[in-house]
Amino acid sequence: MAGAIDSNLDQPKFYIESYGCQMNFSDSEIVASILGEAGYAATRDMYAASLILINTCSIREKAEDTVRKRLREFAKVKRKRPGALVGVLGCMAERLKVKLLEQEKLVDIVVGPDAYRDLPKLIATADDGSRGINVQLSREETYADINPVRLDSNGVTAFISIMRGCDNMCSFCVVPFTRGRERSRDAYSVLAEAQQLFERGYKEVTLLGQNVDSYSWANPETGESINFAQLLALVADVDPQLRIRFSTSHPKDITDEVLHTMARYHNICKYIHLPAQSGNSRVLALMNRTYDRAWYEERVEAIRRILPECAISSDFITGFCSETEEEHRDSLSLIEFARYSMSYMFFYSERPGTLAARKYEDDIPLATKKRRLAEVIEVQSRIALAENESDLGRVCEVLIEGDSKRSDTDWRGRNSQNKMVIWPKRPGEAPGDYVNVRITEASSATLKGVAVESAFAAA
Ligand code: SAM
Ligand code: SF4
Repeated sequence: MAGAIDSNLDQPKFYIESYGCQMNFSDSEIVASILGEAGYAATRDMYAASLILINTCSIREKAEDTVRKRLREFAKVKRKRPGALVGVLGCMAERLKVKLLEQEKLVDIVVGPDAYRDLPKLIATADDGSRGINVQLSREETYADINPVRLDSNGVTAFISIMRGCDNMCSFCVVPFTRGRERSRDAYSVLAEAQQLFERGYKEVTLLGQNVDSYSWANPETGESINFAQLLALVADVDPQLRIRFSTSHPKDITDEVLHTMARYHNICKYIHLPAQSGNSRVLALMNRTYDRAWYEERVEAIRRILPECAISSDFITGFCSETEEEHRDSLSLIEFARYSMSYMFFYSERPGTLAARKYEDDIPLATKKRRLAEVIEVQSRIALAENESDLGRVCEVLIEGDSKRSDTDWRGRNSQNKMVIWPKRPGEAPGDYVNVRITEASSATLKGVAVESAFAAA
């Protein structure tokens, strides 16, 4: 969570914590790069920092509460280190700009997700005793020219942000308000970043966006236009040893062209995160997801047909406004239908300013939302276990990410389907190697196995 390697030089230091989605973690790496250019070094020790930053998430009320708690912790650091500045970045900055500065006096700087280039200027303003604030959203900013500083990196896997914002307006979601309009990044800057990462020894990149399937970039010089399937192919051609993942796919936008591109390349991982949110068409319409259950099922069938090896995962929200018990059971049956390898599951949390907050009553009691959530989790765990058990005896190619959390005599890595695999180390292996592992044990979250032979050796 915190910043990269501490520097020994007598430079000013910043400490950064990130919350929320992968996009936020990726943004913190952009921020680290901008601050590096401005002469700051990262530190993991917040007491050593003259600048303490928190990259925030607004997606659910609980996420905001967590950030508030951390801000109170930072107040203690400020008392011990007078002159240290505290900055709030990201989605909460945009949502709570005035409140953060006026009511929670310990915040000196508030910077929205499109204003990170302004950070050095805002730090100078705050150093002079004024409040530094910029939460302006942009229609153009993609930070395409910024080379992110990899924070807390394992040296094997990295995120690449390919687009920003979202135009979808799902009725429950605050993202379009906090992160602004959708815009796609220059495809060749994405490609260059992937190439550089590979040259530095990275073996897996995850292309990030709120809705990657609507990626669309037109080259201003040639007029050439590149869609997501084409971008995938460009990045996959960097090297067969560089794995490609992506997130998130929107069920309304994922095309057969993307699925066929995935099928063509061994190094595009056979894993799709395809959030359903609900299994009921009336609820989906209220959520403004713009697809219904039949459409979603058809997309799952297309994945099964074109990519029989592909794992699918999902997001679900329980207890959305007016959801009945029967409609809730449609979510359970969709999990059974799609046989997800995993899901992120949440109970509905009303977010101020969203379409749902303005139009619908948040009328499902908290206890009911939580009970439905427990039921969704129960079905998902059962399906995940069954899906993992079907891998028993199979051999899969796993990329070593590092030591297993439990034992340094075991490796931890993921297979193409994004399943976590643990297996005993063999001499001569290192993070970044691909290893063939035969699966011998399965739980709902993890596979265990033994290495059978090396697929590719590390470069
Ligand atoms: N863009 C992605 C998509 O369309 O699926 C998801 C982005 S959002 C950061 C991640 C997940 O948070 C959503 O898929 C949804 O399940 C959940 N979420 C968003 N707003 C929520 C809310 N108000 N209450 C509960 N969960 C919410
Ligand atoms: Fe939110 Fe919907 Fe956009 Fe995802 S697609 S970020 S859920 S508005």
